[in-house]
Amino acid sequence: MADCIFCRIVAGQVPCHKVTEDDRTVAFMDIGQVNPGHVLVVVKPHHATLTDLDEELAAAAMRTVHRVARTIRRELQPAGLTLLQANGEAGWQTVPHFHVHVLPRRSGDAPRLEWPAMNPPQDALAAMAKRLQC
Ligand code: 5GP
Ligand code: ZN
Repeated sequence: MADCIFCRIVAGQVPCHKVTEDDRTVAFMDIGQVNPGHVLVVVKPHHATLTDLDEELAAAAMRTVHRVARTIRRELQPAGLTLLQANGEAGWQTVPHFHVHVLPRRSGDAPRLEWPAMNPPQDALAAMAKRLQC
């Protein structure tokens, strides 16, 4: 996709600071660096969201995430590590080409995620679980 920034990075038309690559994925430094060591793992073919990937490509992305996470642990020894994978504008995605954020964490650092539990009744949980059998 000519107007997709991550397709342009994958094609080598826009520079990036690459940390690893294989036939289906590439990982490079996020330009914004929410924390030092913030890496993006991107699939090479253009697919917007997780559910656009087939299982093999999704597995390839997670293999690369795992490799990057272990390297961050070895090199930076962060107190924690957060994976963030956003899908769609409502899901906080700003670049519509599938990617996973691998973010080293320190206690008390800046990133925040509001996570308000709705604590529904058990019968509502059971009904939803029934719908989502897979
Ligand atoms: P999203 O909001 O879609 O989950 O994340 C998109 C990420 O892409 C942001 O963290 C942003 O900093 C990063 N980003 C956007 N444009 C570029 C770019 O040209 N180069 C790199 N390395 N990262 C980018
Ligand atoms: Zn793309």
